Amino acid sequence: MTASRASDREQLLAWSQRLLQLIEWTDWIAGESNPWTELDPFLVRRRQSGRKHPVLARHQEAECRAITAVALGDGETTSFWHDTWSEAGVLRDALPALYSHCLDVHTTVAEVGAAGGLHDNDLQPRLTAAATADLGLLSDALTAVALQPRPDERWLQGLQSNKVRADDLYAALRTPIGGPALSDINWDSFAPKKVQVFFWILRHGRTKTRGSLHRHGSIDSPDCPFCPGIPEEADHLFVMCPRLQQLWARVMPGGPLLPTTTSAAEALRVWLHDLPPQAANAAVVAVFWVIWKARNAMIFHDELQSAETIARHLQAHLKLWVCRAPTKLDVEPLKLWCQTVVDVN
Ligand SMILES: [Zn+2]
Repeated sequence: MTASRASDREQLLAWSQRLLQLIEWTDWIAGESNPWTELDPFLVRRRQSGRKHPVLARHQEAECRAITAVALGDGETTSFWHDTWSEAGVLRDALPALYSHCLDVHTTVAEVGAAGGLHDNDLQPRLTAAATADLGLLSDALTAVALQPRPDERWLQGLQSNKVRADDLYAALRTPIGGPALSDINWDSFAPKKVQVFFWILRHGRTKTRGSLHRHGSIDSPDCPFCPGIPEEADHLFVMCPRLQQLWARVMPGGPLLPTTTSAAEALRVWLHDLPPQAANAAVVAVFWVIWKARNAMIFHDELQSAETIARHLQAHLKLWVCRAPTKLDVEPLKLWCQTVVDVN
């Protein structure tokens, strides 16, 4: 993999996390809507008259614009002030004085282009000197903008090209068929959203292990923080690291010792077949989550957590998470299992 492709992947990961945080989880799981399309403020705006899609909350609009860039076509779906479409970046930030005088901040690039720029009737009277200077800069810049007779193209900002478009990413995110295993464990549980995202990243092989950070040139050594000389890849971090053997033995006493995150997660899911599926799934995700937290405690705080400590954290997390479980779900078996993981001696 080339350096630029590696960096693309890193960016993709970062943005996909933010995207996931934006999307209504219920819609996502129900799979009935296309949240990405609904996140596009201008598509939504166009639809408001005729179709019954929800209107985007204002903070979501802002976030959507903040994480995407636009290659201008006809300018009709691009916000003049809030999208990243010019070399100056977001114009609201580049020309703050002029922005503060603007009467309609929701205008599109197409509208401004058709009018040949901003005029007196678009602005409050009596511009300040700073706003007048901004307007001069803008007029110069606008002469360089040539709209094209094709739709604007929007993609995730920070990627080096628009090869990976936002809707491609979205399609990849929400299509479990043919994707990595464990998608039911990932989504069909009452684990918090950030933990589901963490597990999604793990399933897609995008966890920032020391091995991957080393390959991307971010750190000098790929070694596991607990095992000098052994690179920290996901399978080692979550399953094979010797310090975890006691924990896995508590989680699946007498169970198989499996070499990969996928096989370990699947085995644990089978191990917990007596639990309601959502509870079992939450338990699997929780085990990986507390291992990740324990590893981070070592890296960032030089804190070595014993198997018993990690087991207690597992219990504490699940105790909080069950508050989010459907009321009809019987969570007692899950609580009992947690207690057995803690009680081993
Ligand atoms: Zn290790």
